[in-house]
Amino acid sequence: MNILVTGGAGYIGSHCCKALYQKGFHPVTIDNLVYGHKSFVRWGEFFQGDVGNPADLKKCFSRHKIDAVMHFAAYAYVGESVQDPLKYYENNLRNTVELLHAVVENDINYFVFSSTCATYGNPEKTPIDERHPLNPINPYGRTKRMIEEILEDYGAAYGLNYTSLRYFNAAGADPDSEIGEDHNPETHLIPLVLDVAAAKRKSIKVFGTDYATPDGTCIRDYIHVTDLAEAHILALQRLMDGADSSVYNLGNGRGFSVLEVIERAREIAAREITFENTDRRPGDPPVLIASNEKAIAELGWNPVYADLNDIIGTAWRWHQKL
Ligand code: UDP
Repeated sequence: MNILVTGGAGYIGSHCCKALYQKGFHPVTIDNLVYGHKSFVRWGEFFQGDVGNPADLKKCFSRHKIDAVMHFAAYAYVGESVQDPLKYYENNLRNTVELLHAVVENDINYFVFSSTCATYGNPEKTPIDERHPLNPINPYGRTKRMIEEILEDYGAAYGLNYTSLRYFNAAGADPDSEIGEDHNPETHLIPLVLDVAAAKRKSIKVFGTDYATPDGTCIRDYIHVTDLAEAHILALQRLMDGADSSVYNLGNGRGFSVLEVIERAREIAAREITFENTDRRPGDPPVLIASNEKAIAELGWNPVYADLNDIIGTAWRWHQKL
């Protein structure tokens, strides 16, 4: 079965391609390589192209009989989305509409969408379940919420069966260290901390130490990228078994503070990690923790890298290869 993976050369997309391949699916990556890495496309086929370009989509769909789509291709720098919303509405929103055009035209019934906990905005309560109101506080989160709404409309009008997966903090790397996180620029906490451990960076900044949390720093729910990949396969299989469209949170249901992450990384890498306390980063909610009960109950999902040591450990092994 051929699965079109948009953004399959990126961090989460490439881990999904590996998982798809291991489960007997045939991934077909479409990626424009703006942020993706060609070297990450190791499972299935590669088509260099842009999901916003109808000609590229046409070529890609004519070469492969596609049975389902997993859509990862997107820009994901929250700060940049505030500075340059046009870039996000064009790339994330408009290009997804182009992709959906091709999906409908080619009678593809199954669509798995890479969404985010940024659709919730500042949580009113924690842990956050899927019924929590969606009040994104930046253009990045808004593009993702809008796409979820578009999918709802396409489901009602065209019978598209979709699953939106709202990731919390994707982290870690392939346990075989074949692929991992490699963003440029890098803004995420764990790879930045590991850069310091690897002496590629002198220190990192801790954004805010005056939050109403036990140690004053922000708390996040870190979820291993291989567990995320597994959830995509389960979501796809569930759709193919005839389940209704749905939305799921993907997180471990446990939170760790910025200082806890730094401390664990120090232990795992056995290196000192220099950090400086700085002001809060605008737009950071103090605590983001998922309720993952729905994904566990309905998808049969069982995150196996639930321990932060496994997440940072696999990331560190990969990081040393960079
Ligand atoms: N963070 C930090 N310093 C950094 C990068 C991130 O203190 O250089 C904090 C950030 O404020 C947040 C947490 O680490 O509370 C995770 O941030 P990241 O950018 O990795 O993911 P986000 O939660 O923004 O999706």
